[in-house]
Amino acid sequence: MHLNYLAFAVPLFLAFIGLEYLVATKQGKTYFRFNDTVLNLSVGIAERLADTFTVGLFYFVYRYLYEHYALFSIRPSVLLWVALLLCTDFVWYWYHRLAHEVTLFWCAHVVHHQSEEFNYTVSARITVFQAFLRTGFWAILPVVGFPPGMITSMLLVHGLYPFFIHTRTIGKLGVLEYILVTPSHHRVHHASNPQYLDRNYGDVFIIWDKLFGTFTKETEEPVYGLTKPLNSNSFLWQHFHFVLEMVYSVRHARTWGERFRIVFGRPDNVHPAARAILEERFIIGKDTVTETPKLNNYVIWQIAVTLLLLFSFLLLEHYVPVFIQVCISMLIVSTLINCGAILEQKRWVFYLEYARFVILVSSVYYCWPQPVVLLGAVVVMAGGFYFHGALRQRYLNLVYRGIEN
Ligand SMILES: [Zn+2]
Ligand SMILES: [Zn+2]
Repeated sequence: MHLNYLAFAVPLFLAFIGLEYLVATKQGKTYFRFNDTVLNLSVGIAERLADTFTVGLFYFVYRYLYEHYALFSIRPSVLLWVALLLCTDFVWYWYHRLAHEVTLFWCAHVVHHQSEEFNYTVSARITVFQAFLRTGFWAILPVVGFPPGMITSMLLVHGLYPFFIHTRTIGKLGVLEYILVTPSHHRVHHASNPQYLDRNYGDVFIIWDKLFGTFTKETEEPVYGLTKPLNSNSFLWQHFHFVLEMVYSVRHARTWGERFRIVFGRPDNVHPAARAILEERFIIGKDTVTETPKLNNYVIWQIAVTLLLLFSFLLLEHYVPVFIQVCISMLIVSTLINCGAILEQKRWVFYLEYARFVILVSSVYYCWPQPVVLLGAVVVMAGGFYFHGALRQRYLNLVYRGIEN
C-alpha cells in the first residue's frame, strides 16, 4: 500500500498542542483562547490541504531550475548538508525580513501574526500564498546547484523546527539562546510592543539577526498580535484584509511613484483609514462576539471532523480520485468559512449548509452513481426550499441558542 506517512504530522502536532495545554493548565496559565485556537487551526488545515496540490509544482520548479540553470554541480555529503542548512536558513532570514518590510509580501505573511495568543497552534498560521512566496525565495538554492531531492528533504526539517518555538511554556534555554532561535526569541518576533517590532526574523539560527542588527532579547512580557488588532473571526477577512487595504491605497494614490511605494515599500505606507473604511464596507467587527457552550460545541465538532477528514485524505491521497479530492477540499474550505462565520454569528451560515449538502451528494453520486442518490437529494432540497423560513429559523435557534440576534 502506498500511504503518505507525512499525514501523521497532523495527529503528532495535535498531541503536542494537547501536551502544551496540559502544561499551561498545570502552571495555572491561560495560554489558549477558544476562538484564537479555532482560527489558528483553520488556517493550518487550509494550508495543509492546499499543499497537497502545490507540493508537486514546487518540486517541478526546483527540478527545472536545477537542470537548466545550476551554477555548480553539488554531490550530497555531510558538509554539503550543513552548507544547505545554513543557506536555507540564510534565505529564510531575508524572505522573512522582506515579508515584514514589503507591503506586497506582508499581504501573505500578515496572517501568521494575527493571533493574540502565542502557543503551538499559532505555528499553523501559514497560508498557501506564503508557501508560494517562500518557494520563490528558495528557488535560489537549485540555481546554486543543490539537488531538488536534497532541498525538499531540508525544507521538511526546516519547516518542522518553527513549530516548537511557538510556546510560552518554555523559558530561556541558557547557552542555546546564543545560537538557535528559541521560544523566547520568537515570542519577541510575535509581539507588538514597540521595542519588539520587526525583530528576530530567524528560523533555526539566531546568528543572522545578530549579524544584520535585528536581534532583540526578551526583557518585558510580550503583547501578542498586530499593532492594529483585527477584531474579526472571519476566515476570509483574515486571509484577504491586507490585500484589500493595499488595493484601496493604490486606488486612492495620486501618482505612479506613490503607487509603487505602497506596493513595494513598507506596510506603513497603506492608507491609514483603509482598514476602517473596508471594515465598514464588509460589515466586519459589527457583531458582538459572544461565545456559548452550545455554539462552541458545534464549532469543536466541525473542526474535529475536518481534522479527521484531512488526516485520512493526506494518508490516502494516492488513492483518492481527483473529483473526490476537489469535493473534499471544497467541503473542508466551506466548513472553515462556516466556523469563522459562526464565531461572528453571521446569519448567512445557513446557506453554506445547502452548499455543503450539494458537495456531499456530488461525491456520494461519484462513488455510487445510482439514480436513487439524485432522487433523494432532490427530495431533500425541495423540502428544504419549501420549508425554508421555518428551517432557517430552527437552525439559527439551534446554533445560536441563548444569543440575541
Ligand atoms: Zn513574521
Ligand atoms: Zn511565528
